[in-house]
Amino acid sequence: MNSRIKKIQIFIITGFTIILAMGNIAYILVRMGEGKTVSEVFGVYRETIHMFLYMWITWILMVLCQLKFSHMLSKTRAELEKARIEAEQANRAKTTFLFNMSHDIRTPISAIMGFADMLKKHKNDDKTDQYIENIQVSTKYLIELMDDVLEVSRLVSGEVVYDDSTVINLDEFCDSVSVVFDESMKEKKLDFNVNFDVLHNEVYCDTAKLRRIYLNVLGNAVKYTPEGGSITMDISEIPGEEKGSNSYKTVISDTGLGISKEYLPHVFEEFTRQRTVTENKISGTGLGLYITKHLIELIGGTIEIESTEGEGTTVTFVLSLRTTGKRVPKNKNAGQETVKKDKVSMAGKRVLVAEDNELNAIIVKDVLEEAGVLTSHAEDGVQAVNLVKENSEGYFDAILMDIQMPNLNGYEAAKQIRALPGKRGEVPILAVTANVFDEDKKNAKEAGMNGHVAKPIDAEKLIESISEVIEK
Ligand code: ADP
Repeated sequence: MNSRIKKIQIFIITGFTIILAMGNIAYILVRMGEGKTVSEVFGVYRETIHMFLYMWITWILMVLCQLKFSHMLSKTRAELEKARIEAEQANRAKTTFLFNMSHDIRTPISAIMGFADMLKKHKNDDKTDQYIENIQVSTKYLIELMDDVLEVSRLVSGEVVYDDSTVINLDEFCDSVSVVFDESMKEKKLDFNVNFDVLHNEVYCDTAKLRRIYLNVLGNAVKYTPEGGSITMDISEIPGEEKGSNSYKTVISDTGLGISKEYLPHVFEEFTRQRTVTENKISGTGLGLYITKHLIELIGGTIEIESTEGEGTTVTFVLSLRTTGKRVPKNKNAGQETVKKDKVSMAGKRVLVAEDNELNAIIVKDVLEEAGVLTSHAEDGVQAVNLVKENSEGYFDAILMDIQMPNLNGYEAAKQIRALPGKRGEVPILAVTANVFDEDKKNAKEAGMNGHVAKPIDAEKLIESISEVIEK
């Protein structure tokens, strides 16, 4: 109820009370003036006075009840209004999200379709390589976008948990992150310096999440620093407040494009970018820093950005990590993403491809057959298990197992194969799936699979992964 009505009601009650009281007093005084005593006045007119009092009290009670009722009504109205505003905001956020997604997905898809058209028209042109590369770049961007969006939705719904059960050497970890950008830094002739000033470099962490944080921030520095610029990464240790934990401070500075004063306060918001890809030709989803901030907060840390447009950007983040209290020497090979091993020759090997999607099955089979592999195809988990049972022991050297298949999914099929006696139950199985989260990898392991290959298929990685499991 609005306060004006309340004021009017209080005014009426008070006014009515005063009039009644004054009326009564005047009445008593007049009667006493006529020579009656107080008890006589009350004696004769007791009934009348009582009636007035009853009326007055009842009326006050009624008004009080109404006041209470109006208060409850206004509270409910306020709650309803709040819920309406929240629902509207959620709706607006959903519409903005769908709008952004639709735009961001359509852009690379139209590039893919456009370049595929060009390829069709100019089959033997010298531009075909460039068209193919453009298609690959757009596809890569689409995958990144999908991964980022999924990560955001998992973070927002609280599905992502921090599991710091892995022990790593922070020194080696930094090398393994830096090496990812080796090529692009060389291409852009960027001067990159790392200062590592950490005493206790053996820490417990959730490697995938820590890696994501460093890749996002360092990746931005590389992305937004033009040719000839420089980037520095300083990592230092600050003694922690809790025993067994230390704070590790990372400062990544670049001499790149910088961020405007207007955009800086929005830098951690999802889907925001200072400039679109059309404006600066630098692609991005506008989700990297949003995810980074959420991950850092999940670990229990802080992140800050200082930047001057045209001069450069400095990102500082502090993470509290449990440490073993040791300083361990760096492995010389650390940072070399893959230590090159002699690959097992794939020619003549037999691989069973369990995949229900026809197009995916064709791509995987083509990739394998090009490497000289003999392939068999199962359209679902049941067929896969039957093919292993029907063929002789050791017939298949490996199985590529899709996860979401009709009749029997990949996990169940793998479990049934592992339960088979002899060599049949020992055949290496690789999960090939678009489910690429840590939980999916864990599920694959629990189902008895030997590894995990992400869709869409990277031909080289697929062959490498198969050769690794066959080798073991
Ligand atoms: P993305 O890079 O995919 O657009 P981010 O969330 O990682 O998304 O960053 C949001 C925006 O912040 C970027 O679009 C860019 O405008 C700005 N930004 C982030 N890091 C830097 C940097 N090191 N230098 C200049 N601008 C940056």
